[in-house]
Amino acid sequence: MSTIPSITLNNGSRIPQLGFGVWQVSDDGAEAAVRTAIEAGYRSIDTAAIYENEAGTGRAVATAGVPREELYVTTKLWNSGTLDWSGAQGQDAVLRAFDDSLAKLGLDYVDLYLIHWPRPMHGTFGNVWKAFEKLAADGRAKAVGVSNFGTAQLDALRQESDLVPVLNQVELHPHFPQTELRAYHAEHGIATEAWSPLGQGKELLAEPALVKIAEKHGRTVAQVVLRWHLQSGVIAIPKSVTPSRIKENLDVAGFELDAEDMAAIAGSETGERLGPDPQGFDWN
Ligand code: NAD
Repeated sequence: MSTIPSITLNNGSRIPQLGFGVWQVSDDGAEAAVRTAIEAGYRSIDTAAIYENEAGTGRAVATAGVPREELYVTTKLWNSGTLDWSGAQGQDAVLRAFDDSLAKLGLDYVDLYLIHWPRPMHGTFGNVWKAFEKLAADGRAKAVGVSNFGTAQLDALRQESDLVPVLNQVELHPHFPQTELRAYHAEHGIATEAWSPLGQGKELLAEPALVKIAEKHGRTVAQVVLRWHLQSGVIAIPKSVTPSRIKENLDVAGFELDAEDMAAIAGSETGERLGPDPQGFDWN
């Protein structure tokens, strides 16, 4: 949508600053929600192999009536512990996983492909990243990035490859603003993308300080939080399956948070995550 700003990534490509996420949505549910989202004006969609809704997402992308080149599709490599990521075998496994995602989406390229989870206890991701380099070079992934990486993994990748991830998608909302990681990203030309940008619709949206700001602007707390992401230079990918909320979450262009609002929102930081700490969490 024209009113949604975009961010230029380190490979020169652009990503809408507000996208639509489909975690915990069934395959058919994703088809309906993504269609509603595209019709409402979203142009960026975030799915993942592990969400098991790439096919439904792809059906909506194919039938929503918007040219493919106007849409921005992100999916993610699920790095299951049962796969061997080392050596040439590991690279082949990544390329096969990518082919599988592309086939399910029914696309011949994605705009962004991410390593979903770092699993630092299993070593670095230099080898996996080599496969990502190939995908970026042949254009089947227009851009490549990571998710849930900390500074240690980002440092390790920088030592093994000249290809800097375009962005790192991490848990980020006013309760958990990731200030240090964002500073690292800024220093190294990596954009920050927020998952659970609305704090999963939980306590964050009932915060008295945020309710007050919402009342002041005649907006909802969800809109205030998304506006905070945009004004913070962060890319946000809120999720909803409710058509009215899908529209509400996109309607964040017509107002501006002032310095006082931004300071009050900063004051709501609790330092508490909703998801597991990726540095210590293994999936299997
Ligand atoms: P979110 O912060 O987007 O919250 C979504 C929930 O908030 C909804 O299910 C609904 O209950 C509520 N909500 C949405 N709009 C609302 C509104 N306007 N008013 C009131 N309540 C509202 O949480 P999320 O789904 O966890 O994160 C968004 C997306 O981020 C996901 O769908 C997924 O694409 C991505 N994600 C990625 C990772 C990762 O590891 N890379 C992890 C989690 C999520």
